[in-house]
Amino acid sequence: MKSNQFVVIGLGRFGSSLARELIQLGYEVLGVDKDEESVQEMSQVLTHAVIADATDEEVLRSLGVRNFDCGVIAIGDDIQASILTTILLKDLGVKQVVAKAMTELHGRVLEKIGVDRVIYPERDMGIRVAHQLVSPNLLDYIELSKEYTIAELAVPKCLNGVSLRELNPRARFGCSIVAINKPKGIIIAPEANDVLAEKDVMVVIGTNQQIEHFEESVIR
Ligand code: ATP
Repeated sequence: MKSNQFVVIGLGRFGSSLARELIQLGYEVLGVDKDEESVQEMSQVLTHAVIADATDEEVLRSLGVRNFDCGVIAIGDDIQASILTTILLKDLGVKQVVAKAMTELHGRVLEKIGVDRVIYPERDMGIRVAHQLVSPNLLDYIELSKEYTIAELAVPKCLNGVSLRELNPRARFGCSIVAINKPKGIIIAPEANDVLAEKDVMVVIGTNQQIEHFEESVIR
């Protein structure tokens, strides 16, 4: 489901960064925080920013929160406030409710009360950075399942001028290059004659093992 209007509750480091980015992407964002300073800081950036306690149902009603497609609860430390706000947003009929969890247990509670998506920013960023530290050419990745991943890998110097026919990743490692992002534009479903260059980014799909093997054999 695509959302157009967002309400972000809790304008701490995570909430304010998320809200700013949504504005950059062209969406409308209502920010809510009980802390005056946090709201003031964001009041010029967001569509609306309001000082309010999000655990107060009447306040949420009067802000018209039910008309928003997506609500993000970015309250961390105060688990009780995070849970109460989640229940209120769900009850008020916000279509998609996303909440940040500090711990696994906090996340499990949020799931039990019907949150649509739990995010663990600190845990997930830790995992992501660990992957990038052990494979420096890894720019980003999406886990499609426990086994399959799509990885964005920077093309190293040693592959400059090498064609996909020469590299032959499918036959050698079992993984496929599904796109090459070049400074001039992206090539989707590249062909055997397409050639890699040092500044390119290759998008590789395969099992985690296949991608690891590919990286170890051709990149390092
Ligand atoms: P971050 O890491 O994103 O900075 P955090 O995980 O440390 O944040 P908190 O500082 O606990 O989380 O909360 C984030 C923001 O949520 C704070 O600015 C805080 O004022 C706000 N907040 C907490 N409880 C409520 C509430 N009941 N209503 C509105 N805002 C709240």
